[in-house]
Amino acid sequence: MDFIRGRRSRDRAPGGTRGGVVVAAMLTSMMMGSGTSFGAGGSPRTRMAADPAEAGGGSFDATAYAITMTYQPDSRTLRGVTVVSATATEALDRFTLHLSGLTVRSVTVDAKPVRSFSRTGAKDLVIVPATTIRREAGFQVRIEYDGTPGAGWLPTTSGGATAFEGSSSAWFPVHEDAHDKAAFQLAATVPDGWSAVSIGRESPVRRGSTTATFRWREPDVDPAHIAVSIDHFTVERSSLADGTPLVNAYAPGLQESTRPLADRSPEILGFLSDRFGRYPFRAAGNVFVHVDDDAPATAPQTRPVYLGAGNERFMNLDAVVHEQAHQWYGVSAAARRPEDDCLAECFAAYATWLWDEARDGVDLDARYREQVNAKKGDAGFWKELYRPGEAPGINEYDKGPLALHALHRQIGDRAFYRLIKRWPQEHRGEYVDWPQFEMFAEKIAGPGLTGFFQAWFRGGTVPVDEYLWPGTLKP
Ligand SMILES: [Zn+2]
Repeated sequence: MDFIRGRRSRDRAPGGTRGGVVVAAMLTSMMMGSGTSFGAGGSPRTRMAADPAEAGGGSFDATAYAITMTYQPDSRTLRGVTVVSATATEALDRFTLHLSGLTVRSVTVDAKPVRSFSRTGAKDLVIVPATTIRREAGFQVRIEYDGTPGAGWLPTTSGGATAFEGSSSAWFPVHEDAHDKAAFQLAATVPDGWSAVSIGRESPVRRGSTTATFRWREPDVDPAHIAVSIDHFTVERSSLADGTPLVNAYAPGLQESTRPLADRSPEILGFLSDRFGRYPFRAAGNVFVHVDDDAPATAPQTRPVYLGAGNERFMNLDAVVHEQAHQWYGVSAAARRPEDDCLAECFAAYATWLWDEARDGVDLDARYREQVNAKKGDAGFWKELYRPGEAPGINEYDKGPLALHALHRQIGDRAFYRLIKRWPQEHRGEYVDWPQFEMFAEKIAGPGLTGFFQAWFRGGTVPVDEYLWPGTLKP
């Protein structure tokens, strides 16, 4: 997800809003407040690791979500049925899914009515099945619900709505915050003239007499990287050279300005594949909507959603390169904890440097020198990019690319390009942490980088000259 636009000017970014309240404020509070962090892959990572027996009961592994829903944009009402397939990892006499707002009408487990279900806290749906589910047993939970979605379901200026990465519990019951990847399948029915665009591959649209049903599926995704957008979209379908389907969707009024960017997707994905190795997913594209001028660009799996696409100041090619780069750095190889977020943002930010160099002949050493010299006296800028137990600050968007450019010059082109390609390939679909990356870099480039990483990533001050001006940067 992204703060890319922020960095450049005002915002910082992402988040959700409750029914159209000032997005920026909400975003900031969602991001800074309450320990929730929107990182690159953009997951709200309130808790890490598996979330076993918390208040609501035992642990399980969700294996699939099958969501059927109808949405009426005019009244902002949603009716949904979600079937969650799961495996108990311990005997379960109760378990918890997450759903915020919305009214739950019925819950069954393996087609039997449950003993009880209750809502607690902001979004816990605690389910007590009729009989205890045995350890290692597979089971299916079917939940029927309806209402007007609240937090995380953002209205667009064209009357639609979007729920971006990290907002899954705004529209379906989900096993959140647990790094629990599952298959995802959605059938969304909307009135004629509207479209629903999500992640993954699309099945043919089914037309009813006054409605249309849009169907999407993705074989394996962290719920934090799911998104859905409903609008009067113009949808363009094509494919990449290797056959990967490419879907670009434009909300009203945005096509003229954003289509030239979307049209370069094959070139951008080709460039990034050249740098980072094979594209990690089997579907691609871009979704352009407008929530408000300050809304960020985000990177759900397979298809970035630009929430402020009507703001031409930030809706530029760099934003597309940055969000697409997250498919490798942040979504496929995803940061394990908030503190590891540099593995997403520093790299997505540096991807735009590499793009600028390759496409526009930008002299990166000159850019680096200029930025280092401009920031030398700015203590906050040099804050740690990696610090155990603490998410990096917004400086990962600008100190981050400087640190990676210094690493590039420290170890040279050959090792650096091998490193940035092999990392996402060898950690495809995994959760990764910063210390792992340091070890991996030494495996590729040879030992002796401890001082460098200390100076640039773990340190909070201007690196000493030895690390500030390595290789060709030497004055
Ligand atoms: Zn980003």
